[in-house]
Amino acid sequence: MAGMPTWVDDAVRGAALPALVALATSCSTTGPVESLPPGAVPMEAPESYLAWWEATESCAGLGGSFGRVEWFVVPGVSSFSTEVGEKVGLWVKRGERRTITIAGGYLEHEMVVRHEMLHDLLSREGHPEPYFTERCGLTWETWQGTPSADLAAGHLH
Ligand SMILES: [Zn+2]
Repeated sequence: MAGMPTWVDDAVRGAALPALVALATSCSTTGPVESLPPGAVPMEAPESYLAWWEATESCAGLGGSFGRVEWFVVPGVSSFSTEVGEKVGLWVKRGERRTITIAGGYLEHEMVVRHEMLHDLLSREGHPEPYFTERCGLTWETWQGTPSADLAAGHLH
């Protein structure tokens, strides 16, 4: 992201100000979200997530915007505490902001990540069966992908 333009002289500063205000506003959206779990830090989505996103759009028959999601990780944990209990993944929508937080131990777990993506595509909490079970199989009970014996079936939200 570009820094504060120091070349702006007094003659154009008035004109530049609204742009700077807008920039400050957009910067603030990468800051902490009050509803995030303790220890959550922003991350760049790994490259593999884009393919997972597209696979989830495909199975659900829904279109979304990958770039609209802000990603967070709680490093070095296998679950984190939330208002609704211990979770390995969490999707939160606050106004126009959409955040997904993943426990560090599950960053590479396709089902956990795609489960949260499906919440975003549906833009809702809860787990309507036609999507989570029948179309996409994105629950611990229905996941057809690689079993991960080393990872517990932690709670999703
Ligand atoms: Zn869920």
